[in-house]
Amino acid sequence: MNKEFDKLINDIKKCKICQNRFGFEPHPVILGNINSKIVQISQAPSATVHNTLKPFTDMSGKRLKYDWYQIDDNTFYNPDNFYIAALSHCYPGKDKNGNDRMPPKICYENWVKKELEYINNKIYILIGAKAAKVFFPEANFNDLIFKNNYINGKLTLVLPHPSPLNIKWFKDHPEFINSRIIEIRKIINNVLNK
Ligand code: SF4
Repeated sequence: MNKEFDKLINDIKKCKICQNRFGFEPHPVILGNINSKIVQISQAPSATVHNTLKPFTDMSGKRLKYDWYQIDDNTFYNPDNFYIAALSHCYPGKDKNGNDRMPPKICYENWVKKELEYINNKIYILIGAKAAKVFFPEANFNDLIFKNNYINGKLTLVLPHPSPLNIKWFKDHPEFINSRIIEIRKIINNVLNK
């Protein structure tokens, strides 16, 4: 229990800062606790998750949990295991071309940065180029995926976006599925089983 952290999470859950920018009521999605073993940071919840309020219940989530991590929902949604955050806690809506809008910077600056200061995690997982850019602004995204990285001295694994739309990247980088994800899975399982 940490009263300051609990207040921060309650404030995030009530946050409506982006309502005008989105044009609809924001639904902050956040799951985890101060002792979660793994902090996972992605870009933003999808339209599906905006409605279910449960992160990674879409096609991307199925690939991430069942194919890549090879863990069940009880393990993934156990807040002692994963702190599931994103650069934007809310689904940001679509732009005029029908693409998901960029995560609003204010969410990371206002909330996520502060959350991370409290959590006693063992490792970080960053999902997608936008999350990686925030923590490793100068690095090449593909290089980050294929090596172990560190944030504040803690092991940091970088993953490509698991979206089914990311077909070309997987075609161009077969070594991710053939070897890198196997190494990453072992690391994650070791952390979860400690
Ligand atoms: S995206 Fe972040 S800052 Fe914007 S309304 Fe949601 S919780 Fe608040």
